Amino acid sequence: MLSNFRASQTFPVLISSCLLGVSCRYDGNGSGCPGIVNKASSINIIPFCPEQLGGLPTPRLPATIVGGDGMDVLSGKARVINSKGEDITGAFRKGAEEALKLARLFKAKIAVLKERSPSCGLSTPYCDIPEGSGIGVTAAIFNLSGIKTMEIHEGDDFPTKEFLALFEESYDSVPVFGS
Ligand code: SF4
Repeated sequence: MLSNFRASQTFPVLISSCLLGVSCRYDGNGSGCPGIVNKASSINIIPFCPEQLGGLPTPRLPATIVGGDGMDVLSGKARVINSKGEDITGAFRKGAEEALKLARLFKAKIAVLKERSPSCGLSTPYCDIPEGSGIGVTAAIFNLSGIKTMEIHEGDDFPTKEFLALFEESYDSVPVFGS
């Protein structure tokens, strides 16, 4: 059933651009997820890269959240620092706000996010909390704004059961399955 999924063109889904194979990662590469790439033409995708939207270059230096996680960045308690020690909190916050702007513009209710990222990850190790991993900055702003979020890994098949459940819950609609 999952293999012949065909999502309705009507319902927008935000997807981290690197998962589509776009070379927007800090190291200049993508993190293409073949499961998503192969379905891209049948999903109403809103691609976004918050670090680029925040004005950071590609490639760029890797960054870590210091003093908390993404929620703490949004509340002003934590900062985002790159490997040269530069404070790039403003770019991360701006990128999150711009991504949220896109979500609202297109009335997207779901975001499929790249794992581990200090921007997109729901559980990133690049932060500073006792649990060892926390939420990224853009994932945090989505969660605070009522956009349903899920992470995906490069090797995952798509759609996952989690995605299908979120889709139905978010759009009060059952995804269309093609033949
Ligand atoms: Fe951009 Fe998010 Fe992918 Fe990082 S994880 S490259 S911020 S889309």
